[in-house]
Amino acid sequence: MDVVSQPLSECFARTREVCEAAGATVVEVPTSRTNSLGLQIARGDNQWTLSVSCNWPLDGSLPAVHLDNNDELLAHVACHGWVCVKDSESLSIDFSRHADTVAETVLAAIHLLEKSLEDSKQGHAEFFNELEGYWSNRPEMLFGRTTVEVDERSRSVNCYADEDTDFSNLNFFEGSKPSHFPTKEARGYRAVYFALPEPVLPPGPNEDLQISYLENLQKEFDAEQQALWAELLGSTPKPERVALLVSMPRAVGGRSLIGFTFGVLEGCPDADTPIANLMIARHTVTHMRERGGANLSLGSRHIVVFGCGSVGSEVADALATSGVGKLTLVDPQSLSADNVFRHALGRFWIGTSKVHALQATLPARYPGIEVVAQPEDAYRWLLTNTTTEVDGFIVALGMPTLERQLSRAIRLSHPKTPVVYTWLEPLDLGGHAVAVTSSGQGCLDCLYRDDEGADSLSSRTSYLEPGQTLTRNLTGCASTFTPYGAIQSRRTALLAAEQMLKALSGSELPYYAYWTGDGSAAAAHGLRTTAWWRQAKTNGSVDVTRPMFGSACKQCRPKK
Ligand SMILES: [Zn+2]
Repeated sequence: MDVVSQPLSECFARTREVCEAAGATVVEVPTSRTNSLGLQIARGDNQWTLSVSCNWPLDGSLPAVHLDNNDELLAHVACHGWVCVKDSESLSIDFSRHADTVAETVLAAIHLLEKSLEDSKQGHAEFFNELEGYWSNRPEMLFGRTTVEVDERSRSVNCYADEDTDFSNLNFFEGSKPSHFPTKEARGYRAVYFALPEPVLPPGPNEDLQISYLENLQKEFDAEQQALWAELLGSTPKPERVALLVSMPRAVGGRSLIGFTFGVLEGCPDADTPIANLMIARHTVTHMRERGGANLSLGSRHIVVFGCGSVGSEVADALATSGVGKLTLVDPQSLSADNVFRHALGRFWIGTSKVHALQATLPARYPGIEVVAQPEDAYRWLLTNTTTEVDGFIVALGMPTLERQLSRAIRLSHPKTPVVYTWLEPLDLGGHAVAVTSSGQGCLDCLYRDDEGADSLSSRTSYLEPGQTLTRNLTGCASTFTPYGAIQSRRTALLAAEQMLKALSGSELPYYAYWTGDGSAAAAHGLRTTAWWRQAKTNGSVDVTRPMFGSACKQCRPKK
């Protein structure tokens, strides 16, 4: 690609050409910024003075555009005047040509500035959507972090500054101190979270933050908030520092969050203590879930996972990272050294109950999830447990006989609930996830019939011809270890988790999902595969649900 730098004069000529074609007049003016074009641009009733950086090659970003006459609050213009051109939708830039890139970026900046001016005339809705961006670029910003949920309820919260940051970072929380917050010597501040019903404009780009701004905010407070404000100011006869979180509604939904710390004395803001802006990082559960792409509607869902081995532990992890709010994990076993390389848990947990270890690790990784550990046999749990609010079951036991028994028990105890049965084939053959509803036609037993519909001990989905003494052949009589790798178990677990999420969103059941591996390791061990495996391998992901399930079996047939 030709990325030759062109002189400022060529960048200017091209910029004028492009902007004039769009109805703007462009005059070159002096600028104090290095290797930049100074431009005076007018279009319609508006006029801007811009400095445009002409550095080349670009470092992964567009040429920087600075609004030199930045004296009002505009969406997409940072406090120090940089125009956020990347937010513009009308960009189609050929990055291999220097002068063209500069010219198109300037034109995009003009379009953006016009939209921002219009927004400012119409009540600043877009500016308030971007308030945190503007706020974060204000001068002399201090930093804060919070686990306080940004909702509509004003309240007192805990706040402290820590020695790690020379007491300049503030930490906000409710209840017990979050484990990832600094633990070094702390200085506590009285603090309040205020949720404003309407947004209030912050100080302009060239205005200092003053105590009068807080007094403006206070005018918006209702009676309850006024009481909190009085509490915050206190009545001590010597000056002390307090902190304030303020949220404002955004037109696009949610709330912006900004913060302050200032001095109080004898029940009034203290003009002699400097007031500071706080840029607040949200460590709240809702924010992390939203930003992380977790599905918030899954937060109220409860899934029971039977079996937390190599597949079940990975299913639990996948459901947790997808945003499922509650998991009940049922497995009587402890983690052994054999498990370590194909399990969601690591070496640290050898000898520990798998469900208790997952109860410790999953909430640490996925804030807000509730994990119930049940170190017992799946069938016994189902018979003795009275938990009725279950949105789905994962059965990952790898023991077909027990799974069929469970299938019948779930149909009795928890009707109309999605159940996903999942298991692995040995070595590199593949894996399965069968999603059914625990009522009506289509159950796990349906799959255990031969082509004539007679009962069979092996599943129609099986990839391996029956009667092969696999574990003994491969690893000796003493071991019941079935050989497969972490990739195989994870891939199968993801398939099962995906089937559960689809079932929760109302997709049609039953559904049979499968994947096939390469099979060369299985062939090298002399394993005989079924006709279905060979068909599945060429199938891709064709839906074979109907032929696999056939008509209702005697377990799921309507009783006469
Ligand atoms: Zn059936």
